[in-house]
Amino acid sequence: MKKIVLASRNWGKIKEIQAMLADLGVSILSLNDYPGIPETVEDGKSFLENALKKARAVAESTGEIVLADDSGLEVDALGGAPGIYSARYAGNDADDVQNIRKLLYDLKGIHAENRGAAFRCVLVLYPVDGHYEAFEGRLEGLIAEKPVGQGGFGYDPVFFLPGEGMTVAELSPEVKNRISHRAQAIAKLKERFRKG
Ligand code: IMP
Repeated sequence: MKKIVLASRNWGKIKEIQAMLADLGVSILSLNDYPGIPETVEDGKSFLENALKKARAVAESTGEIVLADDSGLEVDALGGAPGIYSARYAGNDADDVQNIRKLLYDLKGIHAENRGAAFRCVLVLYPVDGHYEAFEGRLEGLIAEKPVGQGGFGYDPVFFLPGEGMTVAELSPEVKNRISHRAQAIAKLKERFRKG
């Protein structure tokens, strides 16, 4: 069976990507299966640079085909922040609750029509020969006034989808995995696999 290593230790992401790739018939491992591999410093200037850096480092350490994801939240009223700093918006050791608290604080007094935001995801598939390919996905919504919902991870409880009438954290995993930024990038990756 073919093997792909996901260059991530984030269980929220890993579970989503494993579910979305389940029908490929490929064994999907992650960095949690390779505890000895050190963390990659994400000092790139874009989602693509960071994903590529993670993919290359893990490919060199494991000798396997690697899939790396870099993703984050871009908020219009904050000039695209937190962007590539989404995971550590409230500080290097910040957790999801602290990041959400800072985001809501920074958007205090800003009305719904100016709370537009997008989740973005760049996936890099890094084959053993190093000729990588990148796939992008984007999901647009609004930052809610307060967290609602228990599902997903990260900023999901404050990412409101006007079309669905709920936050991403209120979606079932099946719906999130069909419409999310990551799902859209994965769909392009699968299309690439189908073409061979
Ligand atoms: P990365 O691990 O460097 O790609 O950081 C991604 C960060 O962006 C996560 O820690 C979350 O804060 C945020 N993020 C990315 N994708 C999602 C998502 O699907 N829902 C909520 N937050 C997300």
